[in-house]
Amino acid sequence: MARCSNCNAPLPPGSLICAYCNNRNDIDLRGIHYYTTHESDTPRTCPRCTIRLKHLDLKLHGRFLIDRCEQCLGLFFDPGELDALLEAMVGNVFDIDHVGLALINEQRSPDRYPVSYLKCPACSQVMHRVNFGARSGVIVDRCKAHGIWLDGGELRQLLEWMKLGGRLLEREHQERKRAEAVQREREQHRELRGIDSDTTWSFDSFSEPLRHSAPDLFDLILKAFRLFR
Ligand SMILES: [Zn+2]
Ligand SMILES: [Zn+2]
Ligand SMILES: [Zn+2]
Repeated sequence: MARCSNCNAPLPPGSLICAYCNNRNDIDLRGIHYYTTHESDTPRTCPRCTIRLKHLDLKLHGRFLIDRCEQCLGLFFDPGELDALLEAMVGNVFDIDHVGLALINEQRSPDRYPVSYLKCPACSQVMHRVNFGARSGVIVDRCKAHGIWLDGGELRQLLEWMKLGGRLLEREHQERKRAEAVQREREQHRELRGIDSDTTWSFDSFSEPLRHSAPDLFDLILKAFRLFR
């Protein structure tokens, strides 16, 4: 749990502001060494505060540049950078803490901002709101071309989600979905063949040679069945 750097009180989950002393805490990059580098030549603007973002070099595998708003502490990552940072910081997790993952969603303090669509700091197009990973509960803003915007505190939430095995859970979900799709396809196929074998003349024994010798005919029969389903 993150604590207030001023009074050491525990911070409400997912919040930057201390409930006791009102101190604003930079929890996202706590423990990460970084340099503030020169302003970039392609200016990017904070979608919340409309001031210019500052370039930060997180000293990770050499140069690792992200953009940050010094007012709201929001972060902007180029495509792929957020995943790289999460992997670098919380790479070796081998268990899924299902209870913990369920809890991080329940304990979260209400969103700081009302729901709205933000503009990409780079191209000013409206970004998409996407759920990050399985059960992270973090909705991030994404421009396909330029990257992902995280509001202040959201990086910390994603790091906690990673530590609890959120990434593993996400992969599990994806595997399951893929397996289910394959299964569904198989069942549809079986259904078609099932109807075949119910006909009085045993079509089944002919279906194999039919498919090889006269694929067009087999196709036609399939299409006819689909029409009547
Ligand atoms: Zn405090
Ligand atoms: Zn800002
Ligand atoms: Zn963009």
